[in-house]
Amino acid sequence: MEANDKREKLKEFYLKIRDCDRCELSKVRTKFVFGSGSADAKVMFVGEAPGKNEDLQGLPFVGQAGKLLDELLGSIGYDRSEIFIANVLKCRPPGNRDPRIEEIDICKGYLMEQIKIIDPKIICTMGRFSTQLLLDTDKGISSLRGKIFRVGNHIIMPINHPAAALYTPSKTGVLKEDFQKIKRLIDSGGEISDSEEGVSYLESDTLEGKQEEDEQLGLF
Ligand code: URA
Repeated sequence: MEANDKREKLKEFYLKIRDCDRCELSKVRTKFVFGSGSADAKVMFVGEAPGKNEDLQGLPFVGQAGKLLDELLGSIGYDRSEIFIANVLKCRPPGNRDPRIEEIDICKGYLMEQIKIIDPKIICTMGRFSTQLLLDTDKGISSLRGKIFRVGNHIIMPINHPAAALYTPSKTGVLKEDFQKIKRLIDSGGEISDSEEGVSYLESDTLEGKQEEDEQLGLF
């Protein structure tokens, strides 16, 4: 799809879902946080759910974790306008509690449709929730971060959530190293050699397969 068509489709999709009231979070949100960035991004970053600042502004990663994300992107020569940032949940869980399984089940179709429209080559999942969802696994983030997975047409690279690095500063170094790896992945057009980077293969469905399942379930 051409960049303009992607932009139009994404806008159309935003208008369709912005008043979502499918779960209880819609009753307590200030703003629906669709995501932001380029509709034609080659790289997408997926977090967990909006926090307080995101809920107030309607934009993803605009608080402290977002500041760190901007710095990390800057360290590899990228600006957030060149990528796309989204979350598993589009509305803030009260008090920043963890997303619930039923909320993820209701909301995940939105993320899948965003991925389908943007069709990024590389998807960086930040933290446990987006990683487990997109890799269809229940493995923990510490055993998955920094590895590269091919799922359908996409390359998925899990990294620690920036908020976790703020909480545990020793994780910042690991995150910085993982961003250097993301840069190598982008520079190689996703064609990084398997032996060099230890590409892992999961037996999970393709994202498109998941998407079809979601459509069948009438999630969007
Ligand atoms: N943490 C997230 O996972 N997403 C945001 O948008 C902000 C903080």
